Amino acid sequence: MRRYEKGDSNNVVQAMCNMCGREIKIQNGLVLDGVLSIEYKWGYFSDFDGQTHSFDICQECYKKLEKSFVIPIDKENTNEML
Ligand SMILES: [Zn+2]
Repeated sequence: MRRYEKGDSNNVVQAMCNMCGREIKIQNGLVLDGVLSIEYKWGYFSDFDGQTHSFDICQECYKKLEKSFVIPIDKENTNEML
């Protein structure tokens, strides 16, 4: 969950993990922690037709979520980071 400065969707003023409610570190409008940030627009044949869902998950909650998967996540190392 993110809150942005009014009129500036690039400037984050607050971010919280949707699973545990932990505040995520923000500095100068940027998210400093590793966060899984999802924004997904559901399609016609889903139960959420036309809805856009967005949420943030902190690293600790992501680890718990990953452990709950029956099939392991595909992982690959990236050498170039932004
Ligand atoms: Zn969390």
